[in-house]
Amino acid sequence: MIDIEKYNFAGKKAIIRVDFNVPLDKQTLSVTDDTRIRGALSTIQKVLADGGSAILMSHLGRPNGQHSDRYSLRHVLSALEAHLKQHVIFAPDCVGSQAQQMAQALQPKQVLLLENLRFHEEEEGKPYSLADDATDEQRKQAKAALKERQKQFTANLAALADCYVNDAFGTAHRAHASTALIANHFKNNSMFGFLINSELKAMDRVLNAAQKPFVAIMGGAKVSDKIMLIENLLNRVDTLIIGGGMTYTFIKAQGGQIGRSLCEDDKLELAREILRKAQDKGVRLLLPVDAVNADAFEANANTQPSAINQTPDGWMGLDIGTKTIELFSEAIAQAKTVLWNGPMGVFEMEQFARGTSAIAQAVARATANGAFSLVGGGDSVAAVNRNGLASSISYVSTGGGAMLEYMEGKQLPGISAIREQ
Ligand code: AMP
Repeated sequence: MIDIEKYNFAGKKAIIRVDFNVPLDKQTLSVTDDTRIRGALSTIQKVLADGGSAILMSHLGRPNGQHSDRYSLRHVLSALEAHLKQHVIFAPDCVGSQAQQMAQALQPKQVLLLENLRFHEEEEGKPYSLADDATDEQRKQAKAALKERQKQFTANLAALADCYVNDAFGTAHRAHASTALIANHFKNNSMFGFLINSELKAMDRVLNAAQKPFVAIMGGAKVSDKIMLIENLLNRVDTLIIGGGMTYTFIKAQGGQIGRSLCEDDKLELAREILRKAQDKGVRLLLPVDAVNADAFEANANTQPSAINQTPDGWMGLDIGTKTIELFSEAIAQAKTVLWNGPMGVFEMEQFARGTSAIAQAVARATANGAFSLVGGGDSVAAVNRNGLASSISYVSTGGGAMLEYMEGKQLPGISAIREQ
């Protein structure tokens, strides 16, 4: 596998899959959070510093195969130029004769940004233009035809450049033209960018070389979303902390009273199985012992605390309580490796954000004491940022779904396409 660090881009055109799927202001359509743009800079700068030229491709939003000004990558141009401190040329389509000409004319140290890949349904390979009432046969035919067009689309993108760099970790779990299929056109000339490399390094360290004790903290709404990750982690961790909405499926499975708290009734047996497996494997599984309950799912609801298994009738648990914060923080303080994914409560509402903030602080403290910490998933990352703790965590992942799938032990198409060359 080629190492970008050692690759010399001098005189080469590199097509780089970046993740510029950034949030835009609804009115002005200007970039409101440029984290993802900043994440791509070191790769782009390496190409330029070597004397190569960079052709950037990305998706933005969900235009579903249609051209739409709202989702134009033009809106990220000025933010990108400000970071790169140079002019960026914009191609109004990612393929076609104009893109070809612009790529051909590109000089060393110049940057070309291609228009949103997802303006073409070939990028995702999803037949968006198919009528809702299409028959099964029509569907089959449309999919087959799209597959052929996708091959051509991928070849057209590849024809713009001499080498391919994938640095879009956020979409690495998708088998799209620009994230996976294109690598086949660059045998011995495709590689990961610096962002993907650091994501992989952080995740591999936690999965395969974790210093013990290894404490994983899982939160969020549902057990069903995290089950594969929990199963994989049970083979690796010393302590598994479970918080957030998924707590209550476990508490109910153990016979507790959960009032109107979130619960997946069809996952009670699964919860019991996880508890059994943890015991068999000698994993310390910690569930909350108390909660902050609300009489409505509202920011200004009335609240009252209770033991986790004694939620009053009609009330719902929306955050972990003070005893739980203490219990979890103590366990996290012992850790030499910490993985955190998912909030401890409905942290979007101030009244129920305390548990999640306390966990963010506990992870930061453990890191300051020498632990390696990896935080991933949009909500936990938001909680870390909101508490001003991003620089106190060893690695904050940029890919929600991609990180989850990698940590579950799945092969990500965008990763395999390059690793298997
Ligand atoms: P996930 O996307 O699975 O990580 O879930 C994140 C969501 O879980 C957030 O929007 C939280 O508001 C929600 N959540 C966390 N704790 C609870 C809870 N106790 N009850 C209901 N929702 C929760």
